[in-house]
Amino acid sequence: MKILIVGQGIAGSVLACTLSGRGCDVFIADAGLPGSSSRFAAGIINPVTGKRFVKSWNFDLFFPAAMRIYGQIGELAGTSLVREYPVVRLLSAPGEVNDWSARCAQADYSDHMRELPHAHEWEPLLKSGFHFGEISRAARVDFPLLLHAVRQHWTDAGRFIDQAVDIGQTDSWLSEFDKVIFTEGFRGQSNELFPTDLWRVAKGEALIIRFPDFQGHSFSSMLKKTAIIAPLDGDTFWAGGTYQWHFPDFEPSSGERDFLVGHLNDMLDVPYEIIDHVAGVRPTVKDRRPLIGESPVKKNVFMFNGMGTKGALLAPYWAEHLTSHLLDGQAMDPEVSLFRKGS
Ligand SMILES: Cc1cc2nc3c(=O)[nH]c(=O)nc-3n(C[C@H](O)[C@H](O)[C@H](O)COP(=O)(O)OP(=O)(O)OC[C@H]3O[C@@H](n4cnc5c(N)ncnc54)[C@H](O)[C@@H]3O)c2cc1C
Repeated sequence: MKILIVGQGIAGSVLACTLSGRGCDVFIADAGLPGSSSRFAAGIINPVTGKRFVKSWNFDLFFPAAMRIYGQIGELAGTSLVREYPVVRLLSAPGEVNDWSARCAQADYSDHMRELPHAHEWEPLLKSGFHFGEISRAARVDFPLLLHAVRQHWTDAGRFIDQAVDIGQTDSWLSEFDKVIFTEGFRGQSNELFPTDLWRVAKGEALIIRFPDFQGHSFSSMLKKTAIIAPLDGDTFWAGGTYQWHFPDFEPSSGERDFLVGHLNDMLDVPYEIIDHVAGVRPTVKDRRPLIGESPVKKNVFMFNGMGTKGALLAPYWAEHLTSHLLDGQAMDPEVSLFRKGS
C-alpha cells in the first residue's frame, strides 16, 4: 500500500515508522510550518498528572506500546530516544500532602507513587519547606532527535517531500497514493475534509535553562511542582509549560515567560540562566482523546491527530491501532472517532 503522510511531527513520524514496519511504501510531506508543537515539547511521559494526582488514561496499555515503538525507532536512529526518569513531586499545601498519601495507599497507584524522605539530587537547589513524592515509570522521549532521525531516514530513501500539501489538491495526490493521512497538528482544526467541533487548541511556552553553580552535576530525575523541570543534554533543562487558549501569534511572549519564572522561583533557591524561550501550539481536543479516522467527505483520506498534551504516550499505541485498521481491517475504537459527541 502506497501512503502519503502529511505532517512530520511526533504523530506523523511514529505513524510513518509503524506503517513502513508493516511493509507499506510511505512518503512524508512536511513544510516546517510555524507553531508546530513537537519541536518544542519536552516529550515527557508522566503516569500521574493533575492536581488530584490521577493516573493517565489507559496508561498501563499505552506505556508498554510507547516503550516498544520508541525502541524500534531508536534502532533506526542508531541511538536511544527514550529514557525512564522518575519525577520528584514537590508537595506543599497540607491537602496536597494528604491527597498524595491517600493515592500511594491505593492498589492501582502504589506501583507508580511513593513518599520520599528527600528530593534526590535536587535537594541542594530547592527552597525549604517541601514534602516530597516520587512518580516512577515516567520517561522522556527526545522529540527533536526522533524528528531529525525520521526526516533523515526518509530523505535518504528519497521519500521526503519538503512542501506544504494543499488540501484542495488532495485528489491529485490520491491519483498517486492509495491513502493520504493528515497528521498536521493544530492545523488539523481548519482542515475542511474533517469537520468537527471537538478542537480546543492550546499554545504552550517553555524556557530552556541552566544552573551555573551545578555544571556537571548529574540529574537522573525530573522535578515538578506547578511547572516541570526536565534534564536535557549538556547541562541544560526544559522548564514549562504554559497553557493559552487564545493567542495572537505563535511567538514566545513576555507574559508567559514571567509566569514561568514565578513558578520556578517558587521551587528553586539557586540562580539559573534562561538560554532560550520556545512556543508551540498543542493539538488539544475538548474531551482529551485523539481524533482518528477516515474523512466523511473523501474516501481514502484519513486524519491521525488530537494527541493533545500527551503525544509521547499516545502516538505509538494509536499509530499501531490505525495501522491494524488499514492493513488488517480491525475496527477503529469509537473512543477516538471523529464523529463522537464533544463534552
Ligand atoms: C510547550 C509544550 C510542551 C509540551 N510538552 C509535552 C510533553 O512533555 N509530553 C508530551 O507528550 N507532549 C507534550 N506536548 C504536546 C506535544 O507537543 C503534542 O502532543 C505533539 O507534539 C503533537 O504532535 P503532532 O505531530 O500531532 O503535531 P505537530 O508537532 O504540530 O506537527 C505537525 C506537523 O505538520 C506539518 N504540517 C501541517 N500542515 C501541513 C501541510 N498542509 N503540509 C505539510 N506539512 C504540514 C507541520 O509543519 C508540523 O511539522 C507539549 C506541547 C507544548 C507546546
